[in-house]
Amino acid sequence: MANSVNGKLPLLQRMRRRPVRSLLIVAAILIVIAGACLTWSFAPARLDLPSVEVGALPPASPPPGMSISALPTGTYETPAALAFRGGSWSDKRAFAATGILVRHPKGDLLIDTGFGKNVDRQLALLPSYQRSEHHRGVPIAQQLTAARMPLRDIAAIIPTHSHWDHISGGDDLRGIPVMETAAGRAFIASKAKGTEVLNSLGDIHYQQYAFDGGAYLGFPKSHDVYGDGAIVIVPAPGHTPDSVVVFVTLPSGKRYAFLGDLVWQTEGLSIPAEKPWLLRRLIGEDYDETRLDLARIRAATARYPQIAAVPAHDGRAFRAIATYPGETR
Ligand SMILES: [Zn+2]
Repeated sequence: MANSVNGKLPLLQRMRRRPVRSLLIVAAILIVIAGACLTWSFAPARLDLPSVEVGALPPASPPPGMSISALPTGTYETPAALAFRGGSWSDKRAFAATGILVRHPKGDLLIDTGFGKNVDRQLALLPSYQRSEHHRGVPIAQQLTAARMPLRDIAAIIPTHSHWDHISGGDDLRGIPVMETAAGRAFIASKAKGTEVLNSLGDIHYQQYAFDGGAYLGFPKSHDVYGDGAIVIVPAPGHTPDSVVVFVTLPSGKRYAFLGDLVWQTEGLSIPAEKPWLLRRLIGEDYDETRLDLARIRAATARYPQIAAVPAHDGRAFRAIATYPGETR
């Protein structure tokens, strides 16, 4: 043949002669490549972070008597492999669903609400892949009532973001304002994936706030809740557009950064390691923003060791905080 080389037909001609077989081979190759990429996306890899400047430690004058307490409401089981790149499939992590009660003379606050009494019913609203096997503890409203703290003493709830495992308990705390920015409210109102549970709660009383304060530990703007630097919220719209980090400074000088789901387990911050691609994709995370916020938190905690970073789902990170009715000051 004129166009054959060493008696062999060119690839295209062979494909034309046996189109079905050729298509099957191409499909098989693509499946193998996709499988290899997916496997690689779970493999250990140190995340490259931009270098950031966090500036001076922001001043804070927390009033005497201010304290925080942890309110665990349950856990859900997740393999470490799904929490950060390089995690093991056999290393089952009990993802914490824990709220933080901040006692402050100007009004007590709740950072996240954990699981509420209707969490099982709420889970049915979610796509099946999001429904993890969970272990329910005592909801926050019940814990506070048992300790004789009137629920009306809570001035507001500050969700780190609007996903079900952070706002489920809001169902039992009706009437207590939920602090959101205009951008956060727009995200919730858009009924975006992940906001099903919050939107099912119906008549939420939102207390809208703005990031009206200056730069804070590398974050470009902030909101100082009581004007004393003790509770400062910064935007961290990587995990979801309404995600925030809440910084709390106690009278002892101890500081906490409540990270929400910026990372799911401490390794995300310490290695640093990103969440596996598939999970980031399903949630719709903003990759660049997440990396930037991670860089800011790593730089802030490295320079100022009095700041403890607390990923919302890492039970180990809550150990230094007394559980209610105990208090960490
Ligand atoms: Zn979460």
